[in-house]
Amino acid sequence: MLTRFAPSPTGDLHLGHAYSAALAHHAARAAGGQFRIRIDDIDGSRSREDYVAASLADLDWLGLDWDGEPVRQSNRLPAYAAALDTLRARGLLYPCFCTRADIVASLAAPHGPSGAIYPGTCRTLPNAERERRMADEPHCWRLYMWRAVAATGDLDWEEAGQGRRAADSQAHGDIVLARKDAPASYHLASTLDDAAMGVTHVIRGADLIASTDVHRLLQALLGLPTPLYRHHALVCGPDGRRLAKRDAAASLAAFRDAGIDGPALAADLRAGRLPTGYSLQMP
Ligand code: GLU
Repeated sequence: MLTRFAPSPTGDLHLGHAYSAALAHHAARAAGGQFRIRIDDIDGSRSREDYVAASLADLDWLGLDWDGEPVRQSNRLPAYAAALDTLRARGLLYPCFCTRADIVASLAAPHGPSGAIYPGTCRTLPNAERERRMADEPHCWRLYMWRAVAATGDLDWEEAGQGRRAADSQAHGDIVLARKDAPASYHLASTLDDAAMGVTHVIRGADLIASTDVHRLLQALLGLPTPLYRHHALVCGPDGRRLAKRDAAASLAAFRDAGIDGPALAADLRAGRLPTGYSLQMP
């Protein structure tokens, strides 16, 4: 068994991160397996080195030891580019020049699990216009969802202990796989990394259940193995809302500064015992 914890270094880790990391760490250790860290630092404008160091220090404080060196997404750009080339060569990607404002403005489009479903403005641009605009306009790369689903057929994946779940990736529409401002999207990078790291069990928050449908589709398109998934409940604060990085009171640094014992907190979280005022809820 190999599990992972994959923080994005865009803020301080909080109790919800500790819960996720404690579950993944325990699952691996109880099975004599490995627990690895991945730093999801592909978002150059928001990722910060001091948050990388602080995240590792928080895990250390919790007593959640990890195997090997943390993997850095910023070191994996060639792998993302190669996967994009493969999909492009199969006619499964198209460049999209729309700004966020364009998409919002054209929104008769319904919302899907990844936000607004892209209305498809750039899907049918004539080739000549595409070539011309690619030369001087910023663009992202989107998946032709219909073609991708036609290529793979119906897919499903396994939620540990709950059986198989049909993947409804179509509900996401033409998702972005390479962003204007980052060489890969979360969906692409995470799917490729989990496979490259040999992750057998992806343990993460239930807010990502719908993302798993997309990851399953990408696995099928790119010939990658499918891990087992366990989506856990989310830690909510005293206001009943799931924790966010801005909730300073729930940051692990705040618990540490208050003199709380890290390994004892990790053991409590793993057992579903949360500090007073916090609760676990399924989204
Ligand atoms: N970096 C992602 C996050 O913090 C990881 C999500 C995942 O576990 O796949 O949300």
